[in-house]
Amino acid sequence: MKAIQVAEFGGPEVLKLQEIPTPQPAAGQVLVRIHAAGVNPYDTYMRAGTYAVKPQLPYTPGSDAAGTIEAVGSGVTKVKKGDRVYTAKTISGAYAEYVLALESQVHLLPAKISFTQGAGVWVPYGTAYHALYHSAQAHARETVLIHGASGGVGTAAIQIGRAMGLTVFGTAGSQKGLDLVTREGAHHAFDHSKPGYTDQILQATGGKGVDIILEMLANVNLANDLKLLAINGRVVIIGNRGEITINPRDLMARRSSARGFTLWAITPEEEADIHAGLIAGMENGTLRPVVGKELPLAEAARAHKEILEPGAHGKIVLVS
Ligand code: NAP
Repeated sequence: MKAIQVAEFGGPEVLKLQEIPTPQPAAGQVLVRIHAAGVNPYDTYMRAGTYAVKPQLPYTPGSDAAGTIEAVGSGVTKVKKGDRVYTAKTISGAYAEYVLALESQVHLLPAKISFTQGAGVWVPYGTAYHALYHSAQAHARETVLIHGASGGVGTAAIQIGRAMGLTVFGTAGSQKGLDLVTREGAHHAFDHSKPGYTDQILQATGGKGVDIILEMLANVNLANDLKLLAINGRVVIIGNRGEITINPRDLMARRSSARGFTLWAITPEEEADIHAGLIAGMENGTLRPVVGKELPLAEAARAHKEILEPGAHGKIVLVS
C-alpha cells in the first residue's frame, strides 16, 4: 500500500510517500481502507519532534481517518467488512491507503456524513465536545467565545455550542473565515486580526463579559481573555504555542478560572460520552464537519505547511 512515512524528525519535507506492506489485522484489530485522512496541527508538532508524544521512527502520521472496513481479526464483533467508519487514533497511522486499528478505535460513520467529513471528526469534534461539556460544563443560558472559530476545532465548537443552546461568539482572521463562522451558526463574528476587536466583544455582552472562552492560541490571547470573562467565567485552553504573562488579579476579581486539557489524557468514560454525542449529532444533522481543502495523500507536506498558515477554513484532508 501507499503510505506517508517519517524516517527523521524535521520540516514538512520529511513526509515521504512510500510503498510499504499492507498490514493484516490480528485478534481484536481491524483493517480500514482509508478514503480520507484528517490533518491536525499536532501532526506537524509530532513530525517536527517537538510534541510531548514522540513516536518511534519510522512512523506514519495521523489519528483521524474515514473509510470502509476491509478485514477484521478474530473476536471482532463491533464492525464487519464493508462498514463505513471513522477512526479515533490508530495503530499504524492514518496518512495511508489502509490503516490498522483496534476494534475500540473505529466508530460507525452516519450515512449522511461523507468520508472527507468523517476524516474531520475525532480530534476537532472530540476536542470541542470535551471542552464544552466536560471542561467548561456549559449551560444553555451562557455565552461562549470561540477564539479561533474558523478552523477544525472552531467550526466544530460553533455547531456543538449552537446545539447546546449557547449564545455563540466566534473569531477569525480573514473575511472568508468570518463568513464561515457566521454561516456555521455563530450569533456574532469578530476579526481577531483587527485592533479593538476585544472591546467589540465586551460591548456585545453589554459589558458583562463572556461566560466561557475556548482558546486556540493561548500564548497570544490568554491575558486579554481574562479581562473578557464574566463573573464565574472559564477559559478553556485548547491551543498554545508559547509563553505569556497574565495578571492573576483578573481572575480574582471575577472569581474566574483558566483550565486546559489534552485529548490524549481523557478518561474512557469521557471518550464514550464524546462518541455517543458526536454520532447522535451527525445523525440528526446538527454536526456537519466542514472540509475546506482536499489534497491527494502525496501532498501531505503541502498540507502540513498550509495548516499552520493564517486564513483557516474548516479542515484540510488528504484523499486516497
Ligand atoms: P486550525 O484548523 O489550523 O485552526 C486554527 C485556528 O486558530 C483558526 O481559527 C485561526 O484563525 C485561529 N487563530 C489564528 N490566529 C489567532 C489569534 N491570534 N487568536 C485566535 N485565534 C487565532 O487548527 P485546529 O485544529 O482548529 O486547532 C486549533 C489549536 O488547538 C491548535 O493549536 C491545535 O494544536 C490545538 N488543539 C489542541 C487539542 C488538545 O487536545 N488540547 C486538540 C485539538 C487541537 P484564522 O486562520 O482565521 O486567523
